Amino acid sequence: MRAEAGCDAVPQTDQENLPVVPWPGKGCVIDGRTGGSGTNRPGEPEEQKSSHASNQNQPSQQNRDNPFESRPHHFGIETVAGKRSKRIQCACKIPLSLRIKKIDCPLQFMKSFNIAALAGDGIGPEVMREAVKVLRATEMKCGFKLEITEAPVGWAGIDTAGKALPDATLALCKRSDAILFGSVGLPDRDPMIPKEERPERAALLRIRKEFGLFANLRPVKLPKALAHACPLAKERQGDGIDILVVRELTGGMYFGQPKKIEDIGGGNRRAIDTMVYTTPEIERIAHIAFKAAQLRRKKLTSIDKANVLENGILWREVVTRVGRDYPAVALDHMFVDNGAMQLMLRPTQFDVILCENMFGDILSDEAAALGGSLGMLPSASLGATNGSQTFGFYEPAGGTAPDIAGKDLANPIAQILSAALMLRHSFGLNDAAAAIEAAVAAAIAAGKRTGDIFSPDESGAKRVGTREMGDAIAAAV
Ligand code: NAD
Repeated sequence: MRAEAGCDAVPQTDQENLPVVPWPGKGCVIDGRTGGSGTNRPGEPEEQKSSHASNQNQPSQQNRDNPFESRPHHFGIETVAGKRSKRIQCACKIPLSLRIKKIDCPLQFMKSFNIAALAGDGIGPEVMREAVKVLRATEMKCGFKLEITEAPVGWAGIDTAGKALPDATLALCKRSDAILFGSVGLPDRDPMIPKEERPERAALLRIRKEFGLFANLRPVKLPKALAHACPLAKERQGDGIDILVVRELTGGMYFGQPKKIEDIGGGNRRAIDTMVYTTPEIERIAHIAFKAAQLRRKKLTSIDKANVLENGILWREVVTRVGRDYPAVALDHMFVDNGAMQLMLRPTQFDVILCENMFGDILSDEAAALGGSLGMLPSASLGATNGSQTFGFYEPAGGTAPDIAGKDLANPIAQILSAALMLRHSFGLNDAAAAIEAAVAAAIAAGKRTGDIFSPDESGAKRVGTREMGDAIAAAV
């Protein structure tokens, strides 16, 4: 089975259905609009454009193809960029003129994207290597250009530059179009340093805050072939589970003030957390969820606790109002307790689930358990869309898995699917993202299984390592 998705050598132009919209490249005239350089984040001064500095702690780009691999690659973009033709043809041989309207884009302006690749600790570098391999295969097929620059983070950052998020790494992120992240933290080393300096707090939470990442998207997909890896009985799995959890990430009880523990006399104390949401906060996450639903099976289930919480009442009102802008999407509302139960009883009823921060924290992990393995679950955290550009942070749902690190045992699919989400949500390369997702499905259909999704009872399944799984997916793109 082979992915037959077309490619987007330049971003598509009819993006109304997308949660985010790509920005046109400099010199590209798309439906009469002329694009910017595409190398900066919105609002970033010109002088901060990618000039990869070269001091000792500076992110390196020695191996431009795959900084996590010494093996050389070739780029599709270079193959086609030699020809100056308005009738661009990407490596998949489908003339772009058939798929993209009104594009006058000289090849020297073909779209390029800057990616900060922060592999981190444990299995991070192994799975990142495979994700970059797949991205390079996609680039070769689809004719866009990715500048992938690696930088240390987590313990790798502490060991090279004295902190979990070195200044140079943060600077790289700021001048990049998206961050592809591995995972950070090592349980045997974390307790040796103060809490606030530990990788998850000092790097992960800092990045989320720094870039205002308010929307977390976690797709959970259990193909039928992996039914054995799901804790639910097969009859509850239908034709496979395919759910997208959209979680608000910066509001609600985790951040509302006051937030404290205080003495109330008599040797007693009182803990206070405050749940706060404003209409704009609800509106912006609701738009993300409805737009995502439009691209899927057009069903949105909004989770709240409107029977008890004022927040729930406002949440329901605002989501209902936003839903009027999306008549094609069927909206229903569910109390969170029922939602938790329905996920276990009949997960196939869900398409997109929209939650506030705390409910989303819990339900996204519950839904993740249905996906069979942490090694299969990607995630995207999106910031504000500025003009036509959305900054995103893409990471697997799992951690550094020190128990299997360095042994070629890790499942790279979560990292590879995170890269696909990056192409879709930050770069608007929908077909390229779909090509990666189809390639993952093809590798699974061909029986490739890393240890976490392998069952000796499954006929035709072959147990493979991290590298072989990455090779199979790259070959299927
Ligand atoms: P973990 O996700 O690293 O591992 C839990 C289990 O899942 C392990 O058995 C592991 O082998 C397995 N697993 C995870 N990813 C896998 C993959 N790709 N392929 C196959 N199996 C996989 O969680 P943990 O053990 O609780 O945490 C380990 C470290 O990771 C801790 O230091 C923790 O703080 C950190 N962590 C980091 C992040 C992050 O960076 N976003 C998230 C969670 C945990």
